[in-house]
Amino acid sequence: MLPSPYNATRELTIGIIGGGQLAKMLAQAAYRLGLRVAIIEHGADSPAGRMTQLEFPQGWTSPEALATFVRVSDIITLENEFVTPELLEQIAHQRPVYPTPETVRRVRDKLIQKQTMAAAHIPLPSFAGVSTPEEALAFARQYGFPFVLKTRSFGYDGYGNRTIAHPEQLPQAWSELQHYLPDAAFLAEQFVPLQKELAVIVARNRKGDIAVYPCVETVQQDHVCRIVYAPAPIPEALRRQAQEIAVACVEAIEGIGVFGVELFLTTAGHLLFNEIAPRPHNSGHYTIEACYTSQFENAIRAICGLPLGSPEMYVPAAVMINLLGIRSGSGIPDSVLPALQVDKAWIHLYGKQQSRIRRKMGHVTAVGQTLEEAYERARQAAAGIIW
Ligand code: ADP
Repeated sequence: MLPSPYNATRELTIGIIGGGQLAKMLAQAAYRLGLRVAIIEHGADSPAGRMTQLEFPQGWTSPEALATFVRVSDIITLENEFVTPELLEQIAHQRPVYPTPETVRRVRDKLIQKQTMAAAHIPLPSFAGVSTPEEALAFARQYGFPFVLKTRSFGYDGYGNRTIAHPEQLPQAWSELQHYLPDAAFLAEQFVPLQKELAVIVARNRKGDIAVYPCVETVQQDHVCRIVYAPAPIPEALRRQAQEIAVACVEAIEGIGVFGVELFLTTAGHLLFNEIAPRPHNSGHYTIEACYTSQFENAIRAICGLPLGSPEMYVPAAVMINLLGIRSGSGIPDSVLPALQVDKAWIHLYGKQQSRIRRKMGHVTAVGQTLEEAYERARQAAAGIIW
């Protein structure tokens, strides 16, 4: 039988693969529920690693560290999709792993992910796997320019993407992506004229119960999420439809845990699936302060086989702004005092040792009666953190 946290003779330990900010916020939720946390990460003093004595800084490529991490953990989860399904399968022989290796296998490779969603009748842009520039050009001849060339795995914050507007741009884009990820396999995707980018967080527990969060708008700049508006300022019917698509996506991969589903709202008013993350998602950070149960708490509940909490917002509006690195150097800001003077705004600093330009160093969330009010507070709080 799978362990349940509240009929065991000792506190259960949630093992998290990865020690970044998502692991940190997962750990904060786990501690609140009376659980312990183990962290395995490549390097000591990661945002989550420094929170626990059960820190394994040798990382999961060290067989000894991995074996001990697995031994001290009762249930294992992950904060990024970069762990191989093979490694997860190996771990799953010893401990329950959620999301399951099979779910991770269906999302880790974007081509398989999109094929899985297409088979489940989820609407999405046309796409094809391409293994040579000639195949990419053949795709463009069929679907037109511009198109988006993507690495099938390890893409994040736009690092694995190039938009190709003319055939002459292809050779350089191809070699840049190969440089980013040697041995990369690619896919080509129709370029979608975007009205907005949307996201929906879905929690699904081991019984298959589902909690679906409100549909939010994410504002990206240079492929990095900057601002999240909750709820998305679009018609209610579209928000509902986005939630329905997101639930169908999670069911298509039989996901257990918490999932971030990214969607496009096209200029023609249609919703299309972009991608799914098998873990808590940046677009759901606002849920910590604005929803009855945060995405992090529901992730822990889901993997522990516990009932899910309400995903509803208990304030009319919330806005989250990411704090991106604006310098290379210390990760500690020079001051947060002006930010702390902003009413109804919360600061999260991830505790990363080093700042880098564009690196996610923290975020602020603010709430209000309207999105405008929440935005103004979040903007003031973000401006009050001095780097
Ligand atoms: P990553 O894995 O790096 O987050 P995504 O595939 O989500 O990569 O793409 C990052 C961003 O690039 C998206 O948020 C969107 O702004 C843009 N983008 C991706 N695919 C398309 C597309 N088919 N059409 C238009 N814009 C796209």
